[in-house]
Amino acid sequence: MAYQALYRKWRPMKFDDVIGQQHITETIRNEINCGTLAHAYLFTGTRGTGKTTTAKILSRAVNCVSPIDGNPCNECEVCKSILGEVCLDVQEIDAASNTGVDNIRDIISQVNYVATTGKYKVFIIDEVHMLSKGAFNALLKTLEEPPAHVIFILATTEIQQIPATILSRCQRFDFKTISIEDIVSNIKTILSSEGISATDDALEYVAYLGDGSMRDSLSILDQCLAFSGDELTLAKVTDVVGAVDDKTLYDFAGDVASGDTVSALRRFNDCVSSGKNFDNIAKGLLSVFREIIMYKINRDNFSASKIKKQYLESCADKFDVPFLVNCINVLTDCIVSFKTFSSQRVLCECALIRLTTPSMNDDYDALNARISSLESRLSAILQSGFPAPAHKDAPSADIDDIPLPEPPPQSDDVIEYAPPAQQSALPSQQEGSAASQAESKWNDITSALAANGKITLCALLFGVKAKAVDNILYICVSNPDNRHTLSEKTNLDAIKSAIASVVGSDVTVRISSDDIQTSVSGDDDLFQSLDAMGKDFPSNFNLD
Ligand SMILES: [Zn+2]
Repeated sequence: MAYQALYRKWRPMKFDDVIGQQHITETIRNEINCGTLAHAYLFTGTRGTGKTTTAKILSRAVNCVSPIDGNPCNECEVCKSILGEVCLDVQEIDAASNTGVDNIRDIISQVNYVATTGKYKVFIIDEVHMLSKGAFNALLKTLEEPPAHVIFILATTEIQQIPATILSRCQRFDFKTISIEDIVSNIKTILSSEGISATDDALEYVAYLGDGSMRDSLSILDQCLAFSGDELTLAKVTDVVGAVDDKTLYDFAGDVASGDTVSALRRFNDCVSSGKNFDNIAKGLLSVFREIIMYKINRDNFSASKIKKQYLESCADKFDVPFLVNCINVLTDCIVSFKTFSSQRVLCECALIRLTTPSMNDDYDALNARISSLESRLSAILQSGFPAPAHKDAPSADIDDIPLPEPPPQSDDVIEYAPPAQQSALPSQQEGSAASQAESKWNDITSALAANGKITLCALLFGVKAKAVDNILYICVSNPDNRHTLSEKTNLDAIKSAIASVVGSDVTVRISSDDIQTSVSGDDDLFQSLDAMGKDFPSNFNLD
């Protein structure tokens, strides 16, 4: 006897056997029991979720001689003839290959003849969205007022392509994608009936690959069983579908966390050499980053196998969420480009380079991830006091390499202005002068700098105070390097321009050293400043 595919062999025979669609099967069973059947049904949902199966069960249930609580008996002559596809009262039309007006007219011509063996003539039109506009129009009138003995069941994966006039004439049911748990449980039942043993992780992986579709899951299972014989393991499944195992994927994630491009590319090469396909590598890695995000967000309630939890625990703290979102974006770009670019290998390699070198990415999520990293570093610095001096000569290829603030050295050769000696006696002697106004509105001025996209400049002015003396605004900076940077003409001009925008007139500005302690007093100040910067950040940000 010819081999029958699992999904055909195990197709549900009654409503109670349809997996994951109880909200639909219960309703229809009730309609059958109460005799309140509609004359047109529309089943929509992704492929492999049970639309055609439910339509076939419905066609038997309404014609069955001895139905059992709304389910077909599958034993009577009528049920048997429908199951054997020899019953003239039930017709299944594939709209993908019968798109025209003539095909629909053919159906309409049969509508007026009464059913021969059962009570109802049932027309199942699969992939109904493929019908031409003319064909839909031809169907419309019949769908509106069909004879009492006719039931139409339309099925589609593309509900948005169905004209509103058709939608409004049908009772619509939306089929859900089937959960991994439901698929696994169904596969277990099937395998135990077939006398095949399988590990839980293998079944979970098959269900994951099926992506919510029972038919796809069973097709993959068929493929794996042909290879693995009577025992199915995760290793055999990954071998058959060319997928990458979890350990390798989490090792990739480790390379990304440590920014190790060479290791990631070497690992990729090993995967390709051992026959893994590019699509599976990219999608596997995408799913790992998604898992890490979900684990970070809801660690206590995250359900996963013990070994997977160990992988997650070992790497979750190496990432923050914005960085992970950026990783997902990079991989999504890569996977989408597979359709239009012939060399998938090059796309994967570029994606790995972008993942391990975040400074190469300049989109919003990447910048957000880098700022978030900078924020947490700044916060750590403030909590632990000033760190050891960074090496000035080190190349700054990455945001992580930006030298951290240093304590002032003993000698100082930067040209600078000292506030006049009388400053303490006359702190705000010229009330109302432009410089005094600038002193009192200093926070507004730094906010204006942030709003103009001068983020670096604004960062240098964190916790720095300004004093007005003799109508000159002295900006008191204790760090000599920062003083030097702020004294550069472009930076001074930017500060002056921000002052003019806030106080309404030009003010002479000097960068000064100052003995008065002006450093940031604590985290609260820092985060208030970051908040102020953030308000206008997304719309005004520019890289100058
Ligand atoms: Zn029957």
